[in-house]
Amino acid sequence: MVDNKTLTNYCSEYLKIGEFSDYCPNGLQVEGCKKINKIIAGVSANIDLIERAIEERAEALLVHHGFFWKNENPSITGTKKNRVSLLLKNDINLFAYHLPLDAHPEVGNNYQLAKILNIDNPRPIGDTLVWTGEINSTLQTVSELINNKLQRKPQVFGKNDKKIKHVAWCTGAAQDKIDVAIDVGADLFISGEISEQIPALAKESGISFISAGHHATERYGVQALGQHLSDKFDIVYKFIEIDNSV
Ligand SMILES: [Zn+2]
Repeated sequence: MVDNKTLTNYCSEYLKIGEFSDYCPNGLQVEGCKKINKIIAGVSANIDLIERAIEERAEALLVHHGFFWKNENPSITGTKKNRVSLLLKNDINLFAYHLPLDAHPEVGNNYQLAKILNIDNPRPIGDTLVWTGEINSTLQTVSELINNKLQRKPQVFGKNDKKIKHVAWCTGAAQDKIDVAIDVGADLFISGEISEQIPALAKESGISFISAGHHATERYGVQALGQHLSDKFDIVYKFIEIDNSV
């Protein structure tokens, strides 16, 4: 058992949240009961996930995508009212970690994705949030690996038989960071989402591109963090997948 203040302080320190300028608050976004025995982790704090946390009698929900994004209406109305009130009514703490959980060198989404895809020597490129590493493969083999490991058919741009040695990646909606991958001379850039201009940009600069799913690439950070907290504080932890094809 751990209290919510201790968990908040521990995560702030462990994830170095003070070092990030983010689009949302990182940490305890909605306060629930003091004592925490069980944590449910999931990618996004939507109603389906909150309802599962209630069924599981968890005192805390740990997510990558929480509430209170910079560009949204800050009023607690509509769907946000429903989500917040369901948490409050059930006394569930909501912990959300966005960029700090992408960037972390052990439990971060980018590091965890490298582990799953067997990428060698994974390391961040400065403070760009893009990571780089080595993989001895072809574009087709990398896309099959993603299909198998992430259970998601990726969108692939480039020649199937292209040799891939130097790979760069950034989970989530980071397709615009393809410029960073081009600058470091990567053979392939992997991100979660894709937008209209990317296929031409990839073709003209000679880099291959894989869109592997925003949700699919960001399932692993919260799982690693949940497991870490479970080990550290001897609390029960469970990951719940709420499927999302984007
Ligand atoms: Zn994301």
